[in-house]
Amino acid sequence: MVPVPFPGESFVSWVDTVAVTMQLSRAAALRVLGLSGTASFSTHQFHLSPRQLEELRQRTGLRPAQVERMLFSFYTPTALPQLAPDMSERVSNPWLRREHSAACPLCIHASGGRWLLSWRLKWTFLCADHLVYLVDRCPRCELRLYWRLEATATGQRTHCIRPTVRQGRGQRRSGAAVCGFPVAEMQALPVNDEEALHIQRRVSALLLPADASHNEASRQLLQHLARIVHDATRRKTTAGLLDGMESAVIRAVHDVERQPWQPPLSWTLEHGSPAAVSALVRIAARTVLANHSGIQAP
Ligand SMILES: [Zn+2]
Ligand SMILES: [Zn+2]
Repeated sequence: MVPVPFPGESFVSWVDTVAVTMQLSRAAALRVLGLSGTASFSTHQFHLSPRQLEELRQRTGLRPAQVERMLFSFYTPTALPQLAPDMSERVSNPWLRREHSAACPLCIHASGGRWLLSWRLKWTFLCADHLVYLVDRCPRCELRLYWRLEATATGQRTHCIRPTVRQGRGQRRSGAAVCGFPVAEMQALPVNDEEALHIQRRVSALLLPADASHNEASRQLLQHLARIVHDATRRKTTAGLLDGMESAVIRAVHDVERQPWQPPLSWTLEHGSPAAVSALVRIAARTVLANHSGIQAP
């Protein structure tokens, strides 16, 4: 039978684990699971219809709730209200990594290549178990990890499989050698700051759906945080905003590609590493969460 989902695993990671276990391509694994579509699937990650869930239950024995825990729609009650079933699947959200994933290399090592759903949210910027900031780019080729459009991509669970392109040459990417850097060996920045850890724990508790009143409060707090981040990214200067943060985080913010005529933080949410995005969340959390001590990490 098919491997069971790892706790917190994302749907695409599970499909790729099924494919590896059954020695199939991702496209063939999807067919075995009764799902149509190409290997570069996107919509299956968002939500599945009752008919598809029933089909999966018959073929794999997985309960619909187990499958729904792996889909982006799991976060509809809290971080991704735009994904409510009556709304478009193709909605974009600046806090969702929809085409790629961040990762904790130590978790990848420990799990043998299971990628967590929570890593798909930019709200998740560090691993509280291993005390490192997540990585989202390969250190060798600098491309993003777990890129959806690598169609036969089951190898991405453990290695960077982006095609190698020699710099300065117009070499075609198709059929080229792949980078091959092992994800478990990627260096992650250590977390040396209690504040970052504390805020990640608070935010992670907000993300996790629970009862209706928790979800409502979480949704409002996350939207409030997002608005403050939005304002911060439009400020002409970072003066004061990064006070007290670790030098590695400040460096990560400064590393974000930007144009000199734009506000310094304007590209950070879209292009920044998880460490850089952590600065945005911390800026907002210092204002918002200080007044809401009621919601604590479980
Ligand atoms: Zn970890
Ligand atoms: Zn690479």
